[in-house]
Amino acid sequence: MSSIHLHSVSKHYGAVAAVDDVSLDVAQGEFVTILGPSGSGKTTVLTMIAGLNHPSAGSIHIGGRDVTALPAAQRNIGLVFQSYALFPHMNVFDNVAFPLSVRKVGARETRQRVEEALARVRLDGFERRKPSQLSGGQQQRVALARAIVFKPDILLLDEPLGALDRKLREEVQIELRRLQRSLGITTILVTHDQEEALSLSDRIVVLDHGRVQQIAAPREAYLRPSNRFVADFLGTANFLEGRIGPDRRSILLGGGQAIPCGASTLPEGARVTAILRPERLALEPDGAGGILPATVSEAVYLGQSVRYHVETPTGPMVAVTPGGRGGFAAGAQVSAAWQPDDVWIIPDGGSTPG
Ligand code: ADP
Ligand code: MG
Repeated sequence: MSSIHLHSVSKHYGAVAAVDDVSLDVAQGEFVTILGPSGSGKTTVLTMIAGLNHPSAGSIHIGGRDVTALPAAQRNIGLVFQSYALFPHMNVFDNVAFPLSVRKVGARETRQRVEEALARVRLDGFERRKPSQLSGGQQQRVALARAIVFKPDILLLDEPLGALDRKLREEVQIELRRLQRSLGITTILVTHDQEEALSLSDRIVVLDHGRVQQIAAPREAYLRPSNRFVADFLGTANFLEGRIGPDRRSILLGGGQAIPCGASTLPEGARVTAILRPERLALEPDGAGGILPATVSEAVYLGQSVRYHVETPTGPMVAVTPGGRGGFAAGAQVSAAWQPDDVWIIPDGGSTPG
């Protein structure tokens, strides 16, 4: 099992920087997810680590070895892509055995390793099936077994669950995390699905336009996003714009309201954006006690939760409350409240002061 180290890696296609000065350290055994919208450079980063593509600048080390110029075949990396790319004419056993036959592993050891890999993804007994006789989730678990059967140093996964429907995806996610933990294998997963990134990873790398926006543990990235893009991409966020108040425990909004926030290290008058996650926003019945008066414009029942769209003097906001309670109907006069420490402040035009 190996660590991965990217130092100032860039990849240019003509004038386009697909990947722009990315540095990243992945510890041995760590599960890191690269999260970003389509076209943000995720696949390009992964293919450069795999050696299928080479950086225009920067260096890549795997397990302490400089692999920047090394061809893919010499890197010992397990790869899984969205399209499972199983060989349709081969059965499960032969598909999983393929990397071993390329490496000229003997028949006895091949049998033993394939059985072990299939057991790891809980597909023992499926050896004789053809890919067409498996569900999408099972096919992707075969692809996982094939990626680990030759004991790779690291595992790279490019949107491996993207083709699966929600239930299957959750099932394979759990399987993947279990497998990764039991092998202790250093893993990088690429996805555009924020829930997947939050639920699976030790740390998340948020990418936009080829640039790293934030590298942090899921909770940290969600609650303390480094900028507006990260806040927005990792879920719904309420943004309130204003200036730090004289006591530095409040923000003065454009409309003249002062809202409480946790103590800020920014100077009075600094332009900031306050970020408030919808589940931190409580709606209280009409009037007193709240921070901002609000009118419910829409109440969306989602089973486990209710999502409220409300109008406040500073503009529309979203609140999510647990389902199964009384709740408010559209048109209800309420007030919005929150704990000052639930407000995350980012200075305008910059990253967080830390
Ligand atoms: P993602 O995986 O996040 O969707 P990619 O890494 O595939 O993004 O692509 C990042 C950017 O680089 C995109 O703008 C894409 O069009 C461009 N790109 C990727 N591969 C090539 C290529 N071979 N030639 C030219 N441009 C490319
Ligand atoms: Mg991609």
